[in-house]
Amino acid sequence: MPRQRRERPSLADAEGIMAVMKIPGHDHQKPREVTLEEVRAVLGDCHLCALGQTRTNLVFGVGNPHARVMFIGEGPGRNEDLQGEPFVGAAGQRLNSLLALAGLRREDIYIANVIKCRPPSNRNPQPDEIAACSPFLREQIRSIWPDVIVCLGNFATQFVLRTEQGVTKLRGQLYQTGHFVVCPTFHPAATIYHQDWLPLLESDMRMVGAWLAANPPKEA
Ligand code: SF4
Repeated sequence: MPRQRRERPSLADAEGIMAVMKIPGHDHQKPREVTLEEVRAVLGDCHLCALGQTRTNLVFGVGNPHARVMFIGEGPGRNEDLQGEPFVGAAGQRLNSLLALAGLRREDIYIANVIKCRPPSNRNPQPDEIAACSPFLREQIRSIWPDVIVCLGNFATQFVLRTEQGVTKLRGQLYQTGHFVVCPTFHPAATIYHQDWLPLLESDMRMVGAWLAANPPKEA
Protein backbone atom coordinates (compact mmCIF):
# COMPACT_ATOMS: atom_id res chain seq x y z
CA MET A 1 0.00 0.00 0.00
CA PRO A 2 1.34 3.46 -0.79
CA ARG A 3 1.94 5.65 2.20
CA GLN A 4 -0.68 8.30 2.68
CA ARG A 5 -0.95 11.05 5.23
CA ARG A 6 -3.36 13.86 5.95
CA GLU A 7 -1.94 17.29 5.24
CA ARG A 8 -3.48 20.57 6.41
CA PRO A 9 -6.46 21.79 4.37
CA SER A 10 -5.24 23.46 1.20
CA LEU A 11 -6.78 23.65 -2.29
CA ALA A 12 -10.10 22.75 -0.73
CA ASP A 13 -11.09 23.36 2.86
CA ALA A 14 -12.21 20.61 5.21
CA GLU A 15 -15.60 20.38 3.47
CA GLY A 16 -13.97 20.21 0.07
CA ILE A 17 -15.18 23.67 -0.95
CA MET A 18 -12.90 25.82 -3.11
CA ALA A 19 -13.19 29.52 -3.88
CA VAL A 20 -15.80 29.85 -6.62
CA MET A 21 -15.56 31.83 -9.86
CA LYS A 22 -18.71 33.39 -11.31
CA ILE A 23 -19.76 31.26 -14.28
CA PRO A 24 -22.76 32.53 -16.27
CA GLY A 25 -25.86 30.45 -15.55
CA HIS A 26 -24.52 29.05 -12.29
CA ASP A 27 -24.71 30.20 -8.71
CA HIS A 28 -22.02 28.81 -6.41
CA GLN A 29 -21.53 25.74 -8.61
CA LYS A 30 -21.09 22.29 -7.19
CA PRO A 31 -18.45 19.78 -8.30
CA ARG A 32 -19.04 18.57 -11.88
CA GLU A 33 -21.87 21.09 -12.38
CA VAL A 34 -20.03 23.34 -14.85
CA THR A 35 -18.57 21.93 -18.07
CA LEU A 36 -15.03 22.56 -19.20
CA GLU A 37 -16.48 24.33 -22.23
CA GLU A 38 -18.21 26.80 -19.92
CA VAL A 39 -14.95 27.45 -18.06
CA ARG A 40 -13.15 27.92 -21.38
CA ALA A 41 -15.82 30.37 -22.52
CA VAL A 42 -15.26 32.53 -19.42
CA LEU A 43 -11.51 32.50 -20.11
CA GLY A 44 -12.11 33.75 -23.65
CA ASP A 45 -9.23 35.79 -25.08
CA CYS A 46 -7.87 36.40 -21.59
CA HIS A 47 -5.50 39.30 -20.95
CA LEU A 48 -5.76 39.35 -17.17
CA CYS A 49 -1.99 39.27 -16.85
CA ALA A 50 0.96 40.37 -18.99
CA LEU A 51 1.44 36.89 -20.48
CA GLY A 52 -1.61 37.52 -22.63
CA GLN A 53 0.51 40.00 -24.64
CA THR A 54 3.28 37.57 -25.54
CA ARG A 55 1.58 34.19 -26.02
CA THR A 56 0.88 32.62 -29.40
CA ASN A 57 -1.94 30.41 -28.12
CA LEU A 58 -3.70 30.19 -24.80
CA VAL A 59 -3.27 26.58 -23.62
CA PHE A 60 -6.39 25.61 -21.70
CA GLY A 61 -5.98 21.88 -21.12
CA VAL A 62 -6.81 18.60 -22.78
CA GLY A 63 -8.11 15.16 -21.97
CA ASN A 64 -10.95 13.24 -20.42
CA PRO A 65 -13.48 15.60 -18.77
CA HIS A 66 -14.44 12.75 -16.40
CA ALA A 67 -10.88 11.71 -15.56
CA ARG A 68 -10.14 10.04 -12.22
CA VAL A 69 -6.63 11.42 -12.44
CA MET A 70 -5.78 15.00 -13.32
CA PHE A 71 -2.21 16.06 -14.04
CA ILE A 72 -1.19 19.65 -13.41
CA GLY A 73 1.99 21.09 -14.87
CA GLU A 74 3.57 24.51 -14.67
CA GLY A 75 2.88 26.43 -17.86
CA PRO A 76 3.12 26.06 -21.63
CA GLY A 77 6.55 25.69 -23.19
CA ARG A 78 7.48 26.66 -26.72
CA ASN A 79 5.79 23.72 -28.46
CA GLU A 80 2.68 23.99 -26.30
CA ASP A 81 2.45 27.71 -27.04
CA LEU A 82 2.71 27.04 -30.77
CA GLN A 83 0.24 24.15 -30.80
CA GLY A 84 -2.19 25.31 -28.11
CA GLU A 85 -2.03 21.99 -26.26
CA PRO A 86 -0.25 21.00 -23.05
CA PHE A 87 2.47 18.34 -22.91
CA VAL A 88 3.42 17.98 -26.53
CA GLY A 89 7.01 17.46 -27.65
CA ALA A 90 9.65 15.77 -25.48
CA ALA A 91 7.88 16.34 -22.15
CA GLY A 92 4.67 14.92 -23.59
CA GLN A 93 6.42 11.80 -24.89
CA ARG A 94 8.00 11.24 -21.51
CA LEU A 95 4.64 11.72 -19.80
CA ASN A 96 3.02 9.14 -22.10
CA SER A 97 5.59 6.51 -21.18
CA LEU A 98 5.20 7.33 -17.46
CA LEU A 99 1.42 6.96 -17.53
CA ALA A 100 1.73 3.24 -18.27
CA LEU A 101 3.47 2.79 -14.90
CA ALA A 102 0.25 3.92 -13.22
CA GLY A 103 -1.90 1.75 -15.52
CA LEU A 104 -3.13 4.87 -17.30
CA ARG A 105 -3.47 5.92 -20.92
CA ARG A 106 -3.43 9.46 -22.20
CA GLU A 107 -7.16 9.25 -22.94
CA ASP A 108 -7.85 8.38 -19.28
CA ILE A 109 -6.44 11.58 -17.85
CA TYR A 110 -6.87 15.34 -18.04
CA ILE A 111 -3.86 17.65 -18.22
CA ALA A 112 -3.72 21.36 -17.49
CA ASN A 113 -1.18 23.87 -16.29
CA VAL A 114 -1.13 26.37 -13.44
CA ILE A 115 -0.85 29.18 -15.98
CA LYS A 116 -2.37 29.07 -19.45
CA CYS A 117 0.05 31.28 -21.37
CA ARG A 118 3.77 30.77 -21.98
CA PRO A 119 6.12 32.94 -19.95
CA PRO A 120 8.73 34.53 -22.27
CA SER A 121 11.86 32.36 -22.61
CA ASN A 122 10.19 29.77 -20.35
CA ARG A 123 10.95 31.81 -17.24
CA ASN A 124 9.18 30.89 -14.02
CA PRO A 125 5.63 32.20 -13.68
CA GLN A 126 5.39 35.23 -11.39
CA PRO A 127 3.14 35.26 -8.30
CA ASP A 128 0.79 37.86 -9.84
CA GLU A 129 0.44 35.71 -12.98
CA ILE A 130 -0.38 32.64 -10.90
CA ALA A 131 -2.87 34.65 -8.86
CA ALA A 132 -4.57 35.91 -12.03
CA CYS A 133 -4.71 32.52 -13.74
CA SER A 134 -5.30 30.05 -10.93
CA PRO A 135 -9.07 30.66 -10.57
CA PHE A 136 -9.47 29.07 -14.02
CA LEU A 137 -7.50 26.01 -12.94
CA ARG A 138 -9.62 25.79 -9.81
CA GLU A 139 -12.76 25.70 -11.97
CA GLN A 140 -11.22 23.03 -14.22
CA ILE A 141 -10.55 20.94 -11.12
CA ARG A 142 -14.09 21.52 -9.84
CA SER A 143 -15.53 20.58 -13.24
CA ILE A 144 -13.55 17.33 -13.52
CA TRP A 145 -13.50 16.60 -9.76
CA PRO A 146 -10.86 13.90 -10.07
CA ASP A 147 -10.01 11.47 -7.29
CA VAL A 148 -6.28 12.02 -7.75
CA ILE A 149 -4.31 15.14 -8.67
CA VAL A 150 -0.72 14.57 -9.80
CA CYS A 151 1.28 17.78 -9.39
CA LEU A 152 4.19 17.94 -11.80
CA GLY A 153 6.85 20.20 -10.35
CA ASN A 154 7.04 22.91 -7.71
CA PHE A 155 4.47 25.38 -9.02
CA ALA A 156 1.63 22.85 -9.25
CA THR A 157 2.60 21.31 -5.90
CA GLN A 158 2.77 24.64 -4.12
CA PHE A 159 -0.54 25.77 -5.60
CA VAL A 160 -2.46 22.59 -4.77
CA LEU A 161 -0.92 21.90 -1.36
CA ARG A 162 -0.57 25.61 -0.47
CA THR A 163 2.93 25.11 0.75
CA GLU A 164 6.29 26.80 0.39
CA GLN A 165 8.05 23.46 0.41
CA GLY A 166 9.56 22.09 -2.77
CA VAL A 167 8.63 18.90 -4.54
CA THR A 168 11.95 17.25 -3.65
CA LYS A 169 10.90 17.25 0.02
CA LEU A 170 7.24 16.42 -0.55
CA ARG A 171 7.37 13.72 -3.21
CA GLY A 172 7.27 10.01 -2.43
CA GLN A 173 3.94 9.97 -0.64
CA LEU A 174 0.30 10.85 -1.17
CA TYR A 175 -1.54 13.67 0.59
CA GLN A 176 -5.26 13.81 1.29
CA THR A 177 -6.61 17.34 0.88
CA GLY A 178 -10.38 17.62 1.04
CA HIS A 179 -11.80 15.31 -1.64
CA PHE A 180 -8.48 14.89 -3.43
CA VAL A 181 -5.55 12.53 -3.11
CA VAL A 182 -2.53 14.53 -4.21
CA CYS A 183 0.73 13.16 -5.57
CA PRO A 184 3.51 15.74 -5.79
CA THR A 185 6.29 14.69 -8.11
CA PHE A 186 8.86 15.98 -10.55
CA HIS A 187 7.94 17.57 -13.87
CA PRO A 188 8.78 15.14 -16.71
CA ALA A 189 10.72 17.91 -18.47
CA ALA A 190 12.96 18.28 -15.41
CA THR A 191 13.96 14.61 -15.65
CA ILE A 192 15.34 15.23 -19.13
CA TYR A 193 18.08 17.34 -17.50
CA HIS A 194 18.13 15.60 -14.10
CA GLN A 195 18.16 11.96 -15.12
CA ASP A 196 18.60 10.80 -11.53
CA TRP A 197 15.09 12.14 -10.83
CA LEU A 198 13.50 9.82 -13.39
CA PRO A 199 13.45 6.69 -11.17
CA LEU A 200 11.82 8.80 -8.43
CA LEU A 201 9.16 10.06 -10.82
CA GLU A 202 8.61 6.48 -12.01
CA SER A 203 8.24 5.33 -8.40
CA ASP A 204 5.64 8.06 -7.77
CA MET A 205 3.67 6.97 -10.83
CA ARG A 206 3.65 3.38 -9.61
CA MET A 207 2.41 4.68 -6.25
CA VAL A 208 -0.52 6.39 -8.02
CA GLY A 209 -1.25 3.15 -9.88
CA ALA A 210 -1.26 1.20 -6.60
CA TRP A 211 -3.67 3.71 -5.04
CA LEU A 212 -6.02 3.48 -8.04
CA ALA A 213 -5.95 -0.32 -7.91
CA ALA A 214 -6.67 -0.31 -4.16
CA ASN A 215 -9.45 2.29 -4.53
CA PRO A 216 -11.65 1.36 -7.51
CA PRO A 217 -14.23 3.94 -8.69
CA LYS A 218 -17.27 4.13 -6.40
CA GLU A 219 -19.63 4.67 -9.31
CA ALA A 220 -19.99 2.15 -12.16
S1 SF4 B 1 -1.68 33.42 -18.11
FE1 SF4 B 1 -3.80 33.11 -17.48
S2 SF4 B 1 -4.41 35.06 -16.55
FE2 SF4 B 1 -2.57 35.45 -17.76
S3 SF4 B 1 -3.36 36.12 -19.76
FE3 SF4 B 1 -2.99 33.90 -19.87
S4 SF4 B 1 -4.98 32.97 -19.38
FE4 SF4 B 1 -5.06 35.11 -18.69
